[in-house]
Amino acid sequence: MLIFDFTNHRFMSETKHNWTKEEILNIYNKPLMELLYEAATVHRLHHDPNTVQVSTLVSIKTGGCSEDCGYCPQAARYNTNIEGNDLMPVQQVKAQALRAKSSGSSRVCMGAAWRNVKDGEEFDQVLEMVRTINKLDMEVCCTLGMITENQAKRLAEAGLYAYNHNLDSSEEYYKEVISTRGFEDRLQTIDNVRKTNVTVCSGGIIGMGEKIEDRAGMLVALSTLNPQPESVPINALVAVEGTPLEDQEPVSIWEMVRMVATTRIVMPETQVRLSAGRTQMTREGQAMCFFAGANSIFAGDKLLTTPNPDVNEDMKMFELLGLNPQKPFIKKMQPQTVEATDSQYQALGEKPKWTRPEHKIERNEAAKAKANK
Ligand code: SF4
Repeated sequence: MLIFDFTNHRFMSETKHNWTKEEILNIYNKPLMELLYEAATVHRLHHDPNTVQVSTLVSIKTGGCSEDCGYCPQAARYNTNIEGNDLMPVQQVKAQALRAKSSGSSRVCMGAAWRNVKDGEEFDQVLEMVRTINKLDMEVCCTLGMITENQAKRLAEAGLYAYNHNLDSSEEYYKEVISTRGFEDRLQTIDNVRKTNVTVCSGGIIGMGEKIEDRAGMLVALSTLNPQPESVPINALVAVEGTPLEDQEPVSIWEMVRMVATTRIVMPETQVRLSAGRTQMTREGQAMCFFAGANSIFAGDKLLTTPNPDVNEDMKMFELLGLNPQKPFIKKMQPQTVEATDSQYQALGEKPKWTRPEHKIERNEAAKAKANK
């Protein structure tokens, strides 16, 4: 919402936490030029429009996941030719982080194909990765599935900067994509992260067959969080053969631009990240997304398991558009790392009761049956 600041003689946009679906739909459906102008104006009031944050995603544990997310090639139940691996050694993650840093990334996001974090050796190894990367003066993000408050505190103590946990879609459409956990589990994990100083990264995917109302519903769920997530990734589905969503048509650039612009307007302070699906976009399309308020990208030739533009291509695009990579810790101070030996927190070995609705999603069942043939 734009308001006039009479002291400084300029427009301001204030962060509003009570957006309704109707208000968000009205923004999404505006004539495109009006939508772009409004989003670009909000963007300039809150961010340097020529700076884009660059994150590198490292898949620290790939494939073999017990969940049934309809878009995901890492779900063990679908046949997708993904080469799985065990948890990466800390030194290998460090080497990848150093490479990412030298090519302009300020953040490393480590993804593990887990339903939820379990206390034990593997989680201890992840905590060591967090300590190692924080000491490289890079922002560290993890996406490890559902976590408890104690696990969030242990990650924070190790020096975690952000935790990613996407809402994926609206609460209503979530049930059409995933049956092995509920939308409320996602919100609970975000709430657990909010009990620490770790920032929240949460967004979703468009192009899964959802209605525009579902896109607006997802933005209601994200924008009414208080505080709003510090970063919101907007993914365009990459339909992978063997997954339940393999036949989905790619979303058009116009839908992507509308989604980015609407996200920018309803969450003015947030870093809006262009995530999966950039290989399907032209440079002109991506430029329009930056104009509409996107100010973060994932770099590296792979996003977990799906293709992504080459780093050099991205740097050429930055040069062409006059964009600069954002330095780390601009939005929030670098967290301090507490060594494992000085930790205040114990592994509690909790067994939290995350839900498992297991309702029937026909296309998920069909993909599973096909994989079992
Ligand atoms: S999205 Fe995450 S939780 Fe879902 S199947 Fe893939 S790896 Fe597992």
